[in-house]
Amino acid sequence: MKFKELLDECKIYEAGKPIELVVREYGVNEKDIIKLASNENPYGTSPKVVKKIQELSKNMFMYPDDSMYELKDSLSKKYGVLSDNVIIGAGSDQIIEFLIKAKCHVGSKILMAKTTFAMYEIYGKQEGATILRTPSNEHNLAEFEAMYKEHGADIIFLCLPNNPLGECLDKEDVYNFLAKVNKETLVIVDCAYMEYAAYKDSKKAINPSDLIERFPNAVYLGTFSKAYALGGMRVGYGIGQVGIIKTLYKVRPPFNITTLSLAAAIEALKDEEFVKKCIELNFVEMKRYEEYAKSRGFEYIESFTNFITMKFDNKFISSHVAQNLLERGVIIRDLTSYGLNAIRITIGREDQNTKVFKVLDEVLEQLKKEENL
Ligand SMILES: *Cc1c(COP(=O)(O)O)cnc(C)c1O
Repeated sequence: MKFKELLDECKIYEAGKPIELVVREYGVNEKDIIKLASNENPYGTSPKVVKKIQELSKNMFMYPDDSMYELKDSLSKKYGVLSDNVIIGAGSDQIIEFLIKAKCHVGSKILMAKTTFAMYEIYGKQEGATILRTPSNEHNLAEFEAMYKEHGADIIFLCLPNNPLGECLDKEDVYNFLAKVNKETLVIVDCAYMEYAAYKDSKKAINPSDLIERFPNAVYLGTFSKAYALGGMRVGYGIGQVGIIKTLYKVRPPFNITTLSLAAAIEALKDEEFVKKCIELNFVEMKRYEEYAKSRGFEYIESFTNFITMKFDNKFISSHVAQNLLERGVIIRDLTSYGLNAIRITIGREDQNTKVFKVLDEVLEQLKKEENL
């Protein structure tokens, strides 16, 4: 059967591999599997949120409050914006979809870093947009500026900090760049890991209220999937000028998140103490990965997130490393599909990381023998 031709050009998003697959295919015991492939919060969900969901589970026969009044109210207070500046999505992924659907048509141009979140391109291509990428893998604003001058753009994506590499631009540099962007260009500032970056270095912190006030063509994206430990609940949000948010409502399906997701996000915002503790531990454990990489002679990218990307140069083949880890129950992310010989590992808990180092050493030792490296 023939489908929309634009889809011939579209890739399927490759998600991190699930625990169930490793049990099924490699016979590893579920309790021995370490999943550090999707940047989930390894400390699990706040016990307060879990308790709330258990109490509310009897409500699941009901449609959610489609106005999402309480969650929007909580977010508006947290960030000092109006409720009308906020839209909720099934993950911030869905907000990306809304924005592209609302702004793009065939031939629209979307500018982004060479190596960044895969969904920008996937949603863009569904609408027939042309994808423009800067030459460098990591965000480089001089390159963004040069390409913007040369080609123009309908949408610019800035992923701050960037997934899958982990780097993050300084707010001041971002603002200086935004000042040069035409107000008809939509700038999407994807801050899925901003909680981590702002904790590590205050120069990275972007405040959504400040951002949209200065730059009315910018939209801030946040998510509950990472620091707030609700990846399975699918809740994210966009913050922008009222006119932009109203437009996005036109492409939003009704009841786009569930009754329980809504309750979980509201409750998670009440337990900032939990989030803070997870972030502190994340950077304590991140140090161990940096030490590991240094001691084994691997280059890594300084990360402002809850993951770290290690490069293998020509020493090892990242897909082989990832596959061998998988067979031993350690799920990480191979970056071959991004054109890199590198792996991305979510920073786990102390015990998980200790095991990752041990298993990774074993795998590298074995690959050295097998591949005569
Ligand atoms: C995880 C992530 C998102 C969104 O995740 P959701 O679970 O859809 O909220 C968006 N952007 C980046 C860069 C991410 O890593």
